Amino acid sequence: MKRCPYCKLNIGGNPEKCPVCQNALEGEGERDYWPKLTVNSKRVKAFQIVMFAVISVSIVALAMDFLFLKEEHPSFGPLVMAWMIVPGWLLENVIKKHYNLLKTMFVSLIAISVLCGLSEFYIHVAWNVPYFEITSGYIIPILCSLNMVANFVLSFVDKQFTDHSLIYMFMNILVGVVPWITLFFIAGKPPMTWSICLVINVLAFVALFIFRGRIVLNEFRKRFHL
Ligand SMILES: [Zn+2]
Repeated sequence: MKRCPYCKLNIGGNPEKCPVCQNALEGEGERDYWPKLTVNSKRVKAFQIVMFAVISVSIVALAMDFLFLKEEHPSFGPLVMAWMIVPGWLLENVIKKHYNLLKTMFVSLIAISVLCGLSEFYIHVAWNVPYFEITSGYIIPILCSLNMVANFVLSFVDKQFTDHSLIYMFMNILVGVVPWITLFFIAGKPPMTWSICLVINVLAFVALFIFRGRIVLNEFRKRFHL
């Protein structure tokens, strides 16, 4: 057992320093009581670099916006800052390594859609650019279709991992199908991109039931407490 010469305490295990005063301990150590914590320094470094990049891009954008550009201009700093959150969050997930891929993909889909919508609206208001509905007409249905295809490919690559994230696949299907139905009742004829998205998502839903029927039913029972 080790002993702290200052606190006159006997310390079990094999620590280097006294837990009370942080001075070096005397005497022979014994086997460690607790496993030693190992920090993956490469991952910590990568995380720090990502954090620094995200924050510095935001600071430079804000500085350009409010300090350097003297002439009247619509401010863009906050928009750049909002956009930096998505890659920052994604990289953080990748660095951490223990993330749920389908969840990450779905959250990214939602975040990118919201940011695109905000940016498009902002550009329209601030720069007097006509409103083309690019986000709602093209970006969201295309991203949603691509995400569904990727989800489906993954469900065959790694069954185990899809079983735990089926809920995100269903939410993706909802995002792909509900707007079409809404547009159908409001406008009568939804745009082609949304119709393609609808077909892809309905196909994915049918395929899920055919190939993964039991798992899908279990998921429904679990989620809705049936
Ligand atoms: Zn001490």
